[in-house]
Amino acid sequence: MTDNHLHNIVEALKEAKTVLIATHIFPDGDALGSQLGLATILESMGKKVIRYSEEKASYLYDFLPESDKLITELPQLEQIDCVIALDCGDKLRLGKAADELQKSKNLLVIDHHAGHKNFGDYRWVESTRSSTGEMVYELSLQLGVDLSNEAAYCLYVAIVTDTGSFKYASTSARTFAIAGKLLEKGLNPEKIAGKLFDNFTESRLHLLQSVLSTLELYGNGKLAIITATKKMLEITGATAEDTETFINYPRSLATVKVAAFVKETDEVISVSMRSKGTYNVAEVARKLNGGGHRNAAGCKFRDGETLKEARDTIFNELLPLVQD
Ligand code: 5GP
Ligand code: MN
Repeated sequence: MTDNHLHNIVEALKEAKTVLIATHIFPDGDALGSQLGLATILESMGKKVIRYSEEKASYLYDFLPESDKLITELPQLEQIDCVIALDCGDKLRLGKAADELQKSKNLLVIDHHAGHKNFGDYRWVESTRSSTGEMVYELSLQLGVDLSNEAAYCLYVAIVTDTGSFKYASTSARTFAIAGKLLEKGLNPEKIAGKLFDNFTESRLHLLQSVLSTLELYGNGKLAIITATKKMLEITGATAEDTETFINYPRSLATVKVAAFVKETDEVISVSMRSKGTYNVAEVARKLNGGGHRNAAGCKFRDGETLKEARDTIFNELLPLVQD
């Protein structure tokens, strides 16, 4: 059972004067889109809104309206009526500020992750929703706010990115209906797609070239693993954020049911996993202290494991999924 305290969340937000909105570390399109979109919505209701993020928006998303308003220093929470955690399946996903944010007098949680681990005072968690952006749209209806073009833009980006451009299983008729409503606010889907998907730098393309050359296939081509090393980042001059969406390439192979992308960065080794249909990578991610959805999940290795150890652990966990 997932919690539905939407009514309480709406009431708390109507009453609040000052709201802080946070989302998960290494925020993706859904995290940032729903955060910035909700911020604009609440500001249109006359509230003071703080957009908190551990780091500035990645260059992949800094085209989002008002992404420059993100602040990276956590303010004093005593003066804040409500803190909202968006798109976090687990309180640890809030990053360094997790403990501090948990102490806030009113922590409201809106999330769509299967296997959501309860935290906060009021939770609205619906794992059948395509994206947190879709949920923020529903919230805007409950709050009686007519969306601005900027808010619609942010929510549309959230939905497009988290549905893999309306391809993933979580895409529903309601998702399309909401996307339609958002477009009516004057959005240009072609231009937005260009910003999202035709935005590679040369170093990013070179990194992709190196990463794709690591492709390993097992289980009659059903399992694919790709790897990015620190060295590849150094040589190509690309950054860790440049690896976002690389996992879609092994996933795109016709034979592949399960794909993993093992990334070495300075502090952690992070793993992205994708699967098709009933192949469940969320369970594997959870076993390794990560999380996510059935078909898109991830985990981190933080205890000094080598890249090879992390890759071997992932391989050993995923191979049985594709062996029948
Ligand atoms: P991605 O591979 O795009 O980074 O993440 C895919 C999904 O897995 C996202 O829904 C994300 O929330 C979840 N995820 C990725 N890494 C982690 C992690 O380390 N911990 C948890 N709990 N979820 C993760
Ligand atoms: Mn999401």
